[in-house]
Amino acid sequence: MSMIKVLAVASEIHPLIKTGGLADVVGALPGALKRYDVAVTTVIPGYPAVLAANEKWETVAKLPSFFGGRTTIKRGAANGLNLFVVDAPHLFNRPGNPYTDKDGRDWLDNPQRYGALSSAAAEICHGLVADYRPDIVHVHDWQAALTLAYLNYAEGPRPKSVITVHNLAFQGQYPRSILGSLALPQRSFSVEGVEYYGMIGFLKAGLHFADRITTVSPRYATEIQTAEAGMGLEGLLAGRSDVLSGIVNGIDDSEWNPATDTKLAVNYDAKSLAKRAGNREALEKRFGLDHDNSPLFCLVSRLTWQKGIDIMAETVPHLVAHGARFALLGSGDKELEGIFRQATYQYPGRVGAVFGFDEALSHLMFGGGDMTLVPSRFEPCGLTQLYGLRYGCIPVVARVGGLSDTIVDANDAALTLKAATGVQFQPITGAMLQEGISRAIALYRDKTVWQAMQKRGMGLDLSWTSRASAYAKLYKDLLK
Ligand code: ADP
Repeated sequence: MSMIKVLAVASEIHPLIKTGGLADVVGALPGALKRYDVAVTTVIPGYPAVLAANEKWETVAKLPSFFGGRTTIKRGAANGLNLFVVDAPHLFNRPGNPYTDKDGRDWLDNPQRYGALSSAAAEICHGLVADYRPDIVHVHDWQAALTLAYLNYAEGPRPKSVITVHNLAFQGQYPRSILGSLALPQRSFSVEGVEYYGMIGFLKAGLHFADRITTVSPRYATEIQTAEAGMGLEGLLAGRSDVLSGIVNGIDDSEWNPATDTKLAVNYDAKSLAKRAGNREALEKRFGLDHDNSPLFCLVSRLTWQKGIDIMAETVPHLVAHGARFALLGSGDKELEGIFRQATYQYPGRVGAVFGFDEALSHLMFGGGDMTLVPSRFEPCGLTQLYGLRYGCIPVVARVGGLSDTIVDANDAALTLKAATGVQFQPITGAMLQEGISRAIALYRDKTVWQAMQKRGMGLDLSWTSRASAYAKLYKDLLK
């Protein structure tokens, strides 16, 4: 079979520009899809970090007056990724975080910035670049979703389309008055178009027009069809359930492998679990924790309501009372930081915290900790539980979204079947988190059971190489 040409559209791509899991997926999929005869080219905004990634961009199209300024489409490769860059300095030549100014406020022209990204992608689908036409356009999240509206209201044949939702909490909703500035026709403002609760909904439009919708786990695909998790879009999503499915994210095996990870104090594999003690000692020193044999619970996260960090804060006294230790690495909500800082004073040697974003320390935590805690209220996929599995740091997770799909709870049946890989709790309350922690501590005391669980998790194939096959199948089905 000949190669399938996929045009991906996204606002971030690892390793060029990243604020979250979206960038990881967009950056990892093209490489992983090659073996399935899928050739991906990604349309990305010309942020300074993107333009700096290649010295010899080729200009393949010129748009003299595009969303208020001179724009060129550049083509080239960076870090093995094939890219079309929307070089619109008036929109994207701004350093730092792609979405916000240096004080953390959203850029006021974000709808026009991502309207421009989407409009450029639609034009590429229609032949803007002389020798390129995709078979499929695959848009990610609200920033790229409007591509499918531009395609719908333009003349000419359209490629098949896929939209992937990485987090339904971000929808891109703006007042009707900006419709003209997005260069969309007035007739697009309807329920059968971009209209969403009286406003313009970027994500809504993408979900409405896409041939296929995916989320980053099957369970999340089901949850978002309900009022509890649908965030206003449950009706539309339930109405499109026949084209909606979930594909769990993978992890990058070259970065996340305890046998070769240079960020660990000591490397190990499933046959040398005892060596994890070296990483644990490094963690004890870094977090100011006692050196003993009690279980060490770790949590690496943005500190936000979504992640259930307030529930965790409530549960710290219980964890300490049961003889365990707790290490937190996180940044975000200042009030939550304060609560954990207080806990480190209250329980010296038992509770430690580092505030900030520290990639290297996060690796050490999975490599030396005993349990990875993930008490999220909702979780489209979640990555830290996957790192926990890969590193033998047993996940203790809320039973929601991707956490539910990727962890097998150590209940009696699963233990008998030798299938358990972690502990799940629900509903997501302090009391149930306490119960999950107690259960994990009891399992930890049985070294045979515990090590069997560690080895089972470490033996799972969590790589993008295998996960990409599900996307390849989706593309092939679409073209049938
Ligand atoms: P989300 O994308 O909602 O934040 P995920 O679990 O999908 O949640 O991805 C979060 C990623 O960011 C993981 O790779 C996690 O290890 C990493 N991470 C989160 N907070 C920190 C931190 N403070 N320091 C280092 N890495 C972090």
